[in-house]
Amino acid sequence: MPSVVSIPSTKMGAHGSGVTKFTNCLLVKGNDLVKEDLWISSVSGKILNGQEILYGQRIAPGRIVDLGGRVLSPGLIDVQLNGAYGFDFSVIPEDGVVGYGKGVLRVNKNLVSTGVTSYLPTLTSQRPEVYQQALSFLGPSGTHRDPTYGSESLGAHCEGPFISPSKNGIHNTSVLRTSPNGLSDLSLCYGATNLSYPSPIKLLTLAPELPGALQSISALTSLGITVSIGHSEASYEEAILGINAGAKMITHLFNAMKPLHHRNPGIFGLLGTTPSPTSHSKPYFGIIADGIHLHPTSIKIAWNAHPDGLILVTDAMRLAGMPDGTYDWTNGSRIVKKGALLTLEENGKIAGSSIELVECVTNFMNWTGASVPEALKAVTETPARMLGVENVKGTLKEGADADLVVLDSIEDECGKKLVVEQVWKFGECVFEKEVAVKN
Ligand SMILES: [Zn+2]
Repeated sequence: MPSVVSIPSTKMGAHGSGVTKFTNCLLVKGNDLVKEDLWISSVSGKILNGQEILYGQRIAPGRIVDLGGRVLSPGLIDVQLNGAYGFDFSVIPEDGVVGYGKGVLRVNKNLVSTGVTSYLPTLTSQRPEVYQQALSFLGPSGTHRDPTYGSESLGAHCEGPFISPSKNGIHNTSVLRTSPNGLSDLSLCYGATNLSYPSPIKLLTLAPELPGALQSISALTSLGITVSIGHSEASYEEAILGINAGAKMITHLFNAMKPLHHRNPGIFGLLGTTPSPTSHSKPYFGIIADGIHLHPTSIKIAWNAHPDGLILVTDAMRLAGMPDGTYDWTNGSRIVKKGALLTLEENGKIAGSSIELVECVTNFMNWTGASVPEALKAVTETPARMLGVENVKGTLKEGADADLVVLDSIEDECGKKLVVEQVWKFGECVFEKEVAVKN
């Protein structure tokens, strides 16, 4: 079992420097696991250069953590999380924004124990008033670096409402819109303040074939908002136009879009393109590896086509962890939960998932044959690169935030499995798995 060797230090480093050294661990570096120590600071909340600290500044660690050969990964990043622990980012509760703020904090404090140290709180298609109340709570926390707040928002993901009415999935068609006038239509929906730089929105899913969508993509991109293609009827050619306008991602590939056809490869066809500096580049793509949304072989095909673009997402919603039953959802709809499967009562459509991100990583390894670091890349380095935060999140490089997960890698007759044993946020241990005591 992992053990903290010295007395745990306080935030300001009462036991010396505030410096922690992890030893006897396997660091996730690119596609490899490297046996190396890692040094972090609870004062700056960042990863340090161990050689420089030890030999240059002659600072001894205040705390040494022996991980007993376990995997030390950057904290996991989920770019599509609709809610959890009974809270839904798309619903303003009865007590209004006060209750909303408390709900966000509750998610953050619980979510971190699953190894997800940063994420994009995701809103499904809603009426304008929901965005205009909710978004101010969902922006990046930026300079507010308090480990006790748990998981950290990197900005909101607005999935809709500028999506196709025929690929709506669980989104209520009555709230869907188009943006023929580009930015001014987007502002009427999300609120002008939410579309001024810096925006609380980090990722926005839309359908590129809708009127005004291409000029909307350009406007959003210039505001620093990454655009993702999804819930869309786009042909291959329409999808290419979306990418050329600036879209960089595909939302939950395969789901809520046309399937691959040999004469019209559709949105999936973007994975077969050859990147060029003068035109488009291959987009990143979200994959829900919950065993319900996709066949394992589809995931393997997508990964083989573009391994550096694959991002595992949960698409989880507020019923995660709740008992089976029928629950009220937004806009008067109801959802049936049976195990991990969530469906809309009125039409039986898949209504999201209740899986944890680390379980998606485990599924991905077993279905594709990916190694531990290859699978972890899809929830660390790749989403960080998609969001443009690759020097701060999703990496163990010096200067990055000390958001870390200690994972036990188990292999038995069922296959490989990763288990979250410890979680560190801004250089402080914020979760440690309880160890069963043998009698
Ligand atoms: Zn969706």
